[in-house]
Amino acid sequence: MMGHSHALSGIVGWMAVVPFLDGREVLGVSFDLGPGEIVAGSLVCAGAALIPDLDAKSSTITNTYGAFTRALSGIFNWMFGGHRNGTHSLLFAVLMGSVTQGLALWSEFAVQIFVFLLLGIAFNGLGLGSEKNSIASAVINAMATGAVTLALFTSGVDYSWIGLAVAFGCFLHFLGDMATELGVPLLWPATKYRFGEKIGFTTDSKVERNLVTPSLTIAIVLLTFYLFPWPELLPEV
Ligand SMILES: [Zn+2]
Repeated sequence: MMGHSHALSGIVGWMAVVPFLDGREVLGVSFDLGPGEIVAGSLVCAGAALIPDLDAKSSTITNTYGAFTRALSGIFNWMFGGHRNGTHSLLFAVLMGSVTQGLALWSEFAVQIFVFLLLGIAFNGLGLGSEKNSIASAVINAMATGAVTLALFTSGVDYSWIGLAVAFGCFLHFLGDMATELGVPLLWPATKYRFGEKIGFTTDSKVERNLVTPSLTIAIVLLTFYLFPWPELLPEV
């Protein structure tokens, strides 16, 4: 699946679970999801839904922060046995989620930096930065990322759920890739069996461009109407 479809699936995925999580406690994390947490979680999930492709040279995430993400990509590719291997396993999702949660427990400042980096990846995946990576689009992306991170920070977004959101974002990536023909080795390293292999659509095919991407976009619009307390948010006329 392509970068922007993965990023969109991250947003849809988070928005879809908000009604089930809000007001509940899951794995020791209590979810209190207001508008700020819905936006923050959607973007965190969108960025996280691009992390597994850090194993590929040409992916959106690998090319988001230049030499930094390219070096990271080289390391991940080596550690996890090449493209669509270990980084596409449940173990990887748990690992990423745990590292993020550890970061959150360690320092609130580190979380803000991490959120900033993840949002930059999300916006890049959503197409805010052009594929050609011109300086202008990089600047626009950086400004938007900074502005949104700051807005979420000043509105006091609580990131206690960030580890779970990152693991969930990775998992949504696997679902997206399972829908394509190559499949995903979910149980790596125990078995290399690829779930969803030879079924589904081809990456960047007509099906993905004309059906998957528009459906995800419509889902976001509908969920936005459904989830937000519009009467409270809109100014009274
Ligand atoms: Zn992938």
